[in-house]
Amino acid sequence: MTLGCHGAGGVAGGKRVVERWREGRGAEKYSHTYARRMKIEPFRTTHARFDAVLCDIDGCLTPESSTPLDLHALGIIAEHNRRAQRDRDRPLLTLCTGRPQPFAEALTRLLANVTLPLVAENGVWLYQPGANLYEMDPAITREHRAAVREAAAWLESNFGPHGVTQQPGKSASVSLYHPEPAYLREICPAIEAQFAQAHWPMRVSMTWFYINCDLKHISKASGLKRLLATTGLSRERCAGIGDTPSDQAIRDNVAFFACPANADERIKAVADFVAGGSEAAGVVEILGRL
Ligand SMILES: [Mg+2]
Repeated sequence: MTLGCHGAGGVAGGKRVVERWREGRGAEKYSHTYARRMKIEPFRTTHARFDAVLCDIDGCLTPESSTPLDLHALGIIAEHNRRAQRDRDRPLLTLCTGRPQPFAEALTRLLANVTLPLVAENGVWLYQPGANLYEMDPAITREHRAAVREAAAWLESNFGPHGVTQQPGKSASVSLYHPEPAYLREICPAIEAQFAQAHWPMRVSMTWFYINCDLKHISKASGLKRLLATTGLSRERCAGIGDTPSDQAIRDNVAFFACPANADERIKAVADFVAGGSEAAGVVEILGRL
């Protein structure tokens, strides 16, 4: 479910930035400047096939619900990452997630990645863990963020009284939660209609437990494009892991894509490999297959 991106006043400036980026003008200069500022060194390995693994969080490294993490499996992945950075003999796992930057930062520290940037908040942020540097996508303007704040205020006043909460930590998007996902599905069309009427340039999509309201020109795909541009990683030397159709963006940017056993059937259908294990145990299994 997406909405038209016909922004309120001032969004045109952001459109120009996006168009320039899409056309590739300035992208190379931007990526070099960014890489220098973010202190990103090229990461290459002697592995026969891959330099990096781009991995979703929810439903892959952690349970979709708020239950405890599988620390045993995450510990194995952290050791894999330590060896990847020390010996350069295997691909380094980094994150591509809709989660807010602080959650992704905590997990990437747990997974011992201090080398490759991660994509957080569905493309809003690139975060470089080693240097502790953050960069919001430069295609997000002040006007875009004002539209997101207006939308968040409208959502709070209309659905807050019905028990809908907004996930903390988001900078240029809104994620809505309610204990009953059926209620979220029920209000989704009304939210889309309001966004269209108010000309807030955002798309509305439903996950297992959330409604995500993201700027239309920002996505996991735009985040991965920045990640690849700034690191010099190539699609041919990347593997990916995801569990829902929103991870198609990962699928499209890697040479090999795999799912844990719990993944949605629609994304399993486009995977090269489906693990027998679920979530983090499945990711461990996938890393062993690369
Ligand atoms: Mg997921």
